[in-house]
Amino acid sequence: MVKKDYDIIIVGAGPVGGYLAQLLKLKGIDPLLIEEHKELGRPIHCAGLVGKKVFQDAKIPLSSNCILNTINGAVVHFGNDKLEIKRKEVAYVIDRERFDKNLGQNLNIIFETKFLGLEKNKQRYVIETDKGDLAAKMIVGADGANSSIRNIVRKHNGLEYMRGVQFRMKFQPVRKDMVEVFIKRPYFYWIIPEGEKTVRVGVISKNPYQDLLEFVKEKKMGQEIVEKFAGIVPLVHFTPLSHERIFLVGDSAAQVKPLSYGGIYMGMRGAEILSECILKEKFSHYSSLWVKKFGGEIKVALRAREILNNLTERDIKKIFSFLKEKINVVEEKGDFENHTLLLWELLKHPGASREILNIFFKIVKANFTGGL
Ligand SMILES: Cc1cc2nc3c(=O)[nH]c(=O)nc-3n(C[C@H](O)[C@H](O)[C@H](O)COP(=O)(O)OP(=O)(O)OC[C@H]3O[C@@H](n4cnc5c(N)ncnc54)[C@H](O)[C@@H]3O)c2cc1C
Repeated sequence: MVKKDYDIIIVGAGPVGGYLAQLLKLKGIDPLLIEEHKELGRPIHCAGLVGKKVFQDAKIPLSSNCILNTINGAVVHFGNDKLEIKRKEVAYVIDRERFDKNLGQNLNIIFETKFLGLEKNKQRYVIETDKGDLAAKMIVGADGANSSIRNIVRKHNGLEYMRGVQFRMKFQPVRKDMVEVFIKRPYFYWIIPEGEKTVRVGVISKNPYQDLLEFVKEKKMGQEIVEKFAGIVPLVHFTPLSHERIFLVGDSAAQVKPLSYGGIYMGMRGAEILSECILKEKFSHYSSLWVKKFGGEIKVALRAREILNNLTERDIKKIFSFLKEKINVVEEKGDFENHTLLLWELLKHPGASREILNIFFKIVKANFTGGL
């Protein structure tokens, strides 16, 4: 028996589901969120590095009480070479649990309730949970990378995933305000300083736990692991993101930056587009508006990922030296959230060898061709 009827049910009270609910609430719609865990923000599956724009571009004020550290750039290592990119206050290291809890404040959430499936019954959807049935006119799947609702919207599967593991460790970073990135093809490792004595070290790869143990050993980071996290990142560009009045947003819609795997900024933009479509009752516009704004960026970044993975060591060294020469362009034009902007800027820039231009052209071609 259906317990209660709602206008909108959002499945998943992660940051994107929470942000969407806040945007709708601001306009007078109070959706119900169902969350399988017993509290917000736990378990954590995130490095917690977000660009400044996550806070600046938000349509509601986001409390800064979750910011643990301010980042002024990155040191990127490749073999024995390194590239230092300085950008003042480019990003923050956040306490993801607090960030999610802030976004979930004063929302109508029922915890420890797992979405199991849904059925259409006339003009509404009856959703089955492990705590009984609920009904709504609209369902939003904000249920993360492992989304169940995605299987309803997207008939064919074939999502590419990457698995990530991160350790929170007692370790003194080289610089408290710089992230370190170590390119070890085909992956990269990160060391993110949380403070003077604690770092987050992680990797997203095919065998991340083993890879990370080896990396920590190689870098002589010691044994003091405080916490371990794991998660998956969906890497694909697909549409449509809705079926009738069932919508996907955030990781469930693969609204993720394919080069750095960050999903918070993009998921929040997805939530903004979706909330506008819901408020204006332009439900079918959601996918096309998303593609218009971010489809090109994701396609080009996915292509870049594919091409970079297949480059020879020699080619990567060349790109690395080129970027070092153009460090002023990288520092000035690089955008934490929109990675391909830099590519366009570098293409405009004189001084690139024919080989480098060829690589860049192959990447940006994805923007003009049908897809991947
Ligand atoms: C190792 C790793 C590091 C990362 N680092 C960063 C980073 O530094 N910066 C960044 O921006 N992004 C990072 N990401 C990505 C980021 O974590 C995600 O993009 C972000 O969490 C997406 O938010 P979301 O709300 O869409 O999904 P989620 O945060 O996954 O939230 C989904 C919610 O839905 C709930 N749920 C799922 N299924 C059900 C169900 N059947 N019933 C009820 N509830 C359900 C879950 O419990 C969860 O609370 C990282 C990811 C990984 C794996």
